[in-house]
Amino acid sequence: MSSFKDLRSLPSVDALSKQLAGLEERFPRALIVNECRRAIDAARSSVRRGEPLPDLAARVTGELEALAGPSLVEVINATGVVLHTNLGRAPLPELSPQAWYSNLEYDLETGRRGKRDRHTGRLLERLLGRPGILVNNGAAAVYLALHELAGDGGEVVVSRGELIEIGDGFRIPDIMQRSGAKLVEAGTTNRTRVDDYRRAITPQTRLLMRVHPSNFRIQGFTARPALEELAELSRDSGIPLYEDLGSGCLSDLSRQGIDEPTVQASIAAGVNLVSFSGDKLLGGPQAGIVAGDRILVERLRSNPMFRALRVDKLIIQAMETCLRHHLLSQVEALPVERMLRLSVADLRHRATHIAAELGASSCEVREGHSLIGGGSTPAQTLPSVLIALRGDAAALERGLRTSRPPVIARIEDDTLLLDLRTVPPDLDPLLLSLLKMVPVTIS
Ligand SMILES: *Cc1c(COP(=O)(O)O)cnc(C)c1O
Repeated sequence: MSSFKDLRSLPSVDALSKQLAGLEERFPRALIVNECRRAIDAARSSVRRGEPLPDLAARVTGELEALAGPSLVEVINATGVVLHTNLGRAPLPELSPQAWYSNLEYDLETGRRGKRDRHTGRLLERLLGRPGILVNNGAAAVYLALHELAGDGGEVVVSRGELIEIGDGFRIPDIMQRSGAKLVEAGTTNRTRVDDYRRAITPQTRLLMRVHPSNFRIQGFTARPALEELAELSRDSGIPLYEDLGSGCLSDLSRQGIDEPTVQASIAAGVNLVSFSGDKLLGGPQAGIVAGDRILVERLRSNPMFRALRVDKLIIQAMETCLRHHLLSQVEALPVERMLRLSVADLRHRATHIAAELGASSCEVREGHSLIGGGSTPAQTLPSVLIALRGDAAALERGLRTSRPPVIARIEDDTLLLDLRTVPPDLDPLLLSLLKMVPVTIS
């Protein structure tokens, strides 16, 4: 047991920081002292656990160097998951952020105060034929809609098959409760008909709600009314129909083999209000968009929570850019659209080139699939061509993850797979050089 001796040999904060006085040219003294204290505290705990005394000076220097650099860094996403939540969902198009002043809430025509959502509002109105507003994310959009339209204890009818959890704590019943609305369940888990909604309506009903089952499918003996049927019930009863669409797909992706309802189709079917995320299939920054009947959108906008959930100028700028690309059909300018449209032939060409450079002893090219991911289009995949690396998959994964820039790949059946769909083609040479540096341990 060296633990007792090691504990006594821990330096004082003062002694350790004196030893590191040379760092004072680059770091504030108070920060160095604080890092010394943190390192000594951590060392005390690890010595008590029986671990050897670390090199404290080296540890503090390492921590300070790490603090001086960014923590949020660019990674190469070779997973083939287009909307990877852990990797920031949709990659953004080229932007030139206005870091200084802008006309965010200033009308350049009149010289008066303007509204910050007119920048995106004019584009949403053209794209969807309806006014729309931006909030922090999809969850905030759902909250705001429920809070404004039924937050005083009003009843909201939802099918039992749509009481979903999106992940990271977003559950429809919970958000409903927090909004002040009262959930009324209609139908059953697998089968709900329009009559179930009709029977659930009472004088307290404020909203008929439809939730897109983004991340799962109910299969087998199932039934779900068409949106048009619910819209008819909504018109007959005078109760608005609200759809939480989740992904916010703005362009028809059926030619890519992706079966995802578009926002335009939802509005055409007669939905009064629809909400969706900015960073899923729309291909933009994190945001939630609510669009629909002017009277309802205006109500949401005047709710005090709208101010609390509003988005920043950087988001508005990024969203404006993305919406304009959609409006002008510049799909090539949107990374998500570009990646979804990549052909298998193109992916094979790139994979074959990289594999040839690496050599047949380190890898092979095989058919496989990319995933859309990001809480949208469950079980929907796109055909792709993968590079399968030979060797210890876990070791290769770690090697690539800790390279600079980090390369994130996926493991399937103990094999490390690289999918070039999510790698910008101009990064292929960099990816190749990183792959060549990773020690390949042939198993
Ligand atoms: C993703 C999703 C949400 C949450 O949106 P965020 O932008 O992640 O907050 C809500 N509802 C549905 C149906 C979704 O798919």
